[in-house]
Amino acid sequence: MIPLPQLFQSSKPVISIEIFPPKTPRGDELLIETLDTLREHQPAFISCTYGAGGSTRTRTIDLCQQIQERYDIPTTAHFTCVGSSKEELVDWLTAASKAGIQNIMALRGDAPKGEETFKPAEGGLTYANELVSLIREHHPEMGIGVAAYPEKHPECLSADLDLENLKRKIDAGADAAFTQLFFDNSRFFGFRERYDASGCKIPLVPGIMPITEFARIRRISAMCGSDFPAGLAHKLEAVQDDAEAQLEIGVQHAVEQCQELLDQGVPGIHFYALNKSQACQRILSELKL
Ligand SMILES: Cc1cc2nc3c(=O)[nH]c(=O)nc-3n(C[C@H](O)[C@H](O)[C@H](O)COP(=O)(O)OP(=O)(O)OC[C@H]3O[C@@H](n4cnc5c(N)ncnc54)[C@H](O)[C@@H]3O)c2cc1C
Repeated sequence: MIPLPQLFQSSKPVISIEIFPPKTPRGDELLIETLDTLREHQPAFISCTYGAGGSTRTRTIDLCQQIQERYDIPTTAHFTCVGSSKEELVDWLTAASKAGIQNIMALRGDAPKGEETFKPAEGGLTYANELVSLIREHHPEMGIGVAAYPEKHPECLSADLDLENLKRKIDAGADAAFTQLFFDNSRFFGFRERYDASGCKIPLVPGIMPITEFARIRRISAMCGSDFPAGLAHKLEAVQDDAEAQLEIGVQHAVEQCQELLDQGVPGIHFYALNKSQACQRILSELKL
């Protein structure tokens, strides 16, 4: 399977689809249906999240392995520092490598529910840059993605400090940065200018979450600290009892967002698909890729 640096050598935009491990057998079936549909668009890789609090430790690896075997598409396994000592982190990385996974999205993770601030596990790591170093030390062959925040990570006191912290992950050996979801491209372009000016060289890939349900997406954007443009919110509020109309507005917005990003030379787009195919399928069909 192909590691991230090689994927980004492609002359075509690197399209990736992020999914999460389902919690029920029906969820498993729906995910297969989703991937059966989206594979037609030949994503460069599928990434699979790591559950909050480390709750999908083996599920993430198993799912990545199954996807690689079933579809012959490379995967990226997300991995966080939550709840694991350094030794446990290394064991997990070795298990991922043995399962044929070549790419890791190296993250710190969030504090478990009910706890206000992130605390490292005993003998564990405090920040994602340390996880990047650990991967480079033990599995130098692996491709590494990291998270970037066009609208600043919610815990960080300033955007400049947050960019410095992103640079730590890049200096530690990350291969590509994938952004938090955003709905207003000007936020991404402003961030990209600062990113370039600070000497960051690895591909910066925008993260797009298609709007399918207004109430849900609003909750997610507030949690992530992503601004929700007032004009878009008004349009969606006007059809809040009409699921189809919401999907239509969401797809249209994402197509316009993605097309502008591609026209402005982004190296790829990372879709937060939430295990659903309908919106992504429509967006990918409409884009000039
Ligand atoms: C593309 C993407 C995928 C994600 N996938 C998952 C997932 O699968 N599972 C999951 O649980 N969560 C996931 N998340 C969410 C992520 O875990 C949270 O946003 C988390 O709060 C921060 O993770 P990080 O890797 O950005 O942490 P860090 O890069 O460690 O940053 C965390 C905070 O600490 C600051 N900081 C960083 N390094 C230092 C340092 N050395 N010294 C001082 N301050 C520092 C940063 O500015 C930031 O405020 C994802 C996020 C993105 C954007």
